[in-house]
Amino acid sequence: MIQKTSFSHFSDYLFINLMNTLKMQNHNPIDLLTEKENATQWLTLMEENGLLTASQIEQIKQAPIQLDDLRQFRDECRDHFASNKSHDSFIHLLTNATKAAPLSFLLEKKNLTPLPSKGGTQGLLAIMAFQVLQFEGAGLLNKVKACENDDCLAFFIDQKGKRKWCSMEVCGNRKKAKKHYYTKTKTSKNT
Ligand SMILES: [Zn+2]
Repeated sequence: MIQKTSFSHFSDYLFINLMNTLKMQNHNPIDLLTEKENATQWLTLMEENGLLTASQIEQIKQAPIQLDDLRQFRDECRDHFASNKSHDSFIHLLTNATKAAPLSFLLEKKNLTPLPSKGGTQGLLAIMAFQVLQFEGAGLLNKVKACENDDCLAFFIDQKGKRKWCSMEVCGNRKKAKKHYYTKTKTSKNT
């Protein structure tokens, strides 16, 4: 079993997990998708957690994963959600990805599973783009947020519209401790 910790900020959403394959470690950005086996491990982790089905994995494995293409899609998603600027070009990116490997659908365990017509990166990106487009259709894309800790690269889904940090335990507490420290030093200077 692959450890969730090697890919941090585990989410129930495939595209969030892809975006979070870039993370901060000791103040340095680390890319978790640099080796071929990283993509294989990531896919296995998604399957183990039910975010990709066995039939989807089987189809994806019909062709190799091109890390450059996967990273490019990831970075374009990250840029979009970090800045929220060009909505149209983002939708264009997603629809192009679904066109590159058109989807058919399987009914598996009462769930509708999108199955791409091609394997490899194109197949994986089509599944992911479809998920993001479904999000857009449900008006949920504005719930995707970047963590407000400057020293964190994580994205998360802010269901209630109030969350600032990827995790209260990690970034929230760190930020609060910092604020507390500054308030304390300021107060002690004044007295
Ligand atoms: Zn964070």
